[in-house]
Formats: sequence, structure tokens, C-alpha cells
Amino acid sequence: MAAAGLARPEHAAAAGSDLPAEAPGFYSFRLGEFRIAPVCDGVFHLPMNSIATNAEPAARKAYFDAHYMTADIFQLQANPLLVGSAEKLVLIDTGVGPAQDWAPTAGRLAKSLQDAGVAPADIDVIVLTHCHGDHVGGLEAAVSEGFSKAEVVLSETELDLWNSPDAASKVPDWAAPGVPALQKTFAALGDRLRPVKGGSEIVTGVMALDTPGHTPGHMSVLVASGGVTMLVTGDALANIHFAFDHPDWQMIWDHDRELGVKTRKSLLDRATHDRLLVTGYHYPFPGVGHVVKEGDGFRWLPAEWVWDRET
Ligand SMILES: [Zn+2]
Repeated sequence: MAAAGLARPEHAAAAGSDLPAEAPGFYSFRLGEFRIAPVCDGVFHLPMNSIATNAEPAARKAYFDAHYMTADIFQLQANPLLVGSAEKLVLIDTGVGPAQDWAPTAGRLAKSLQDAGVAPADIDVIVLTHCHGDHVGGLEAAVSEGFSKAEVVLSETELDLWNSPDAASKVPDWAAPGVPALQKTFAALGDRLRPVKGGSEIVTGVMALDTPGHTPGHMSVLVASGGVTMLVTGDALANIHFAFDHPDWQMIWDHDRELGVKTRKSLLDRATHDRLLVTGYHYPFPGVGHVVKEGDGFRWLPAEWVWDRET
């Protein structure tokens, strides 16, 4: 029987607590001529009462019961994305950052990049979808060490908001405490900051897309190579818990909740109409897949894990 097999001495080294505690935190696949790799920064938790705030209470309860989300908190992953073209290595978003009290199980980006064989100094461009702490937490390494040569790209609107003298009064209360450290990092980056407009090409094959609502200057990103296009949603689609099948449900994390809904629906329409490959920062790792229309809403269809290298 199995238990006897596991007790054999030659299996002892792999038994119970001797099993490895973790696996490498990246996933890599080809998109045309590009190599793409979500890299895991870890997970963190948010209160359930922060999401689906405008849903009818009975429908909300029934939905979350049906999806096994009945605790007071739910989990979100944080997955920055490497985009490697022939000419540039791009990192989209930078994780929660190390040693954050509110996210003790995140902040492992440096380790995951190492697992992927990427030195932070190799990154040419860092793209910020927006300036919430779970996306810019690792940016400080662009100044102090690590990402020593990377140019930092974000939308003009987003930079203007977070870098303005009265930024703390223009962003939600929960985001205000992060403003001083972010402004200090922006100041230290100096000429390495490159604000862009929606529709502009960040590097060949990587295009900024204005998707406001979550923040006023939120950007999604389109990555295109070899006739294949992938939509990197950022937090315009901030979860798979309800954003696909109930895109009209709001959450407190959108600065403009109604605009957040409008942008979300428009992105979902585009993803289905254009049959785009889709990836998002907070989707279950590796978080790559497609969107299909279903009923009044949409459904997340995760892609198969791809093995495209000979062993
Ligand atoms: Zn986020």
C-alpha cells in the first residue's frame, strides 16, 4: 500500500517536511518573436467588503458562496510581467516591494527574477500601469540598486497626479500614505522617467493604452509580435473573482468606480472581439488566457500551461 511505499528509506529524503518549500516563481512562453514571462511577487489579502460594493446583497452573497469566497478576506496575486523582445527587456509593474507589513507573503520579485535568470540590471524599461503600492512597491530598487539602467515609463496623467504637491488630497485616503516615498523615488529617477500618452509605442511592439477609472492615468499595454497580440490589463481588470462575469460590480479600489466599470466592459468587449490573449497582474498564476462572452457577462478561460522547449 502507498503508506508502506513512502516509508521506504530511499524515499525518506523527499518525504513530508523535506519536500521543497517552493518552486521557481516564473512562467515563460513565446509570443511571436518575443518571450513573455509572468514573474511571481507573491500574494496578499484584501477585505471582502471592499469589492462588489454596489451589488444587491442577496445576489452578492449567493455569488461569493458559490465561488467559495466566504471568509472576511480574499487573496490577490501580484505578478509583474517580463516582455523580452530582440531589442529590449521590459518589466511591467514592480510588485509590492520587500518587507511590507500589509503584505508579508509578497515582495519576492527579486527572487523570482533570479529564478528566471534575469538580473535587475538587465531590465531596459520598467512600465508602470499605475501608481498603487502593489505595483510600484519594487520601484525604489530602480534608484537604490538593482534596476540600475531602466527607464521608467508611465502615463503623463498618472505622473501628474502622483507627483503633484497636493497629491495626497487627490488620491483615496488609503493610497495617500504611499505618496511621499513615491515622490522621493520619482525625484531620484530624474531623466529616467518617461511619461507617455495612450497610443504611443513604448518599445517596438509594446503599446500604451489609456484605461482610466482604476486611477485617472491607468494604462493597459498591448504587446504584439508575429501576428499575435496580447492585452496586459493591469488593474483595469483587477481580479478574476467577479470582474469578468459581473463587470458592473464596483470596488473601492477604483478611484472613479463608474469609469472603472465602463473601461472594464470596453476592454472585455475588445478582448473577445479581437480574440486577444490576455494577462493580468492579479490573476491566478501564471494568469494567461482568453476571455469568452457568457450570458450578460464574460468568462475567464485560462490557457494551458505551455512547454515549448525540448528537454
Ligand atoms: Zn493592483
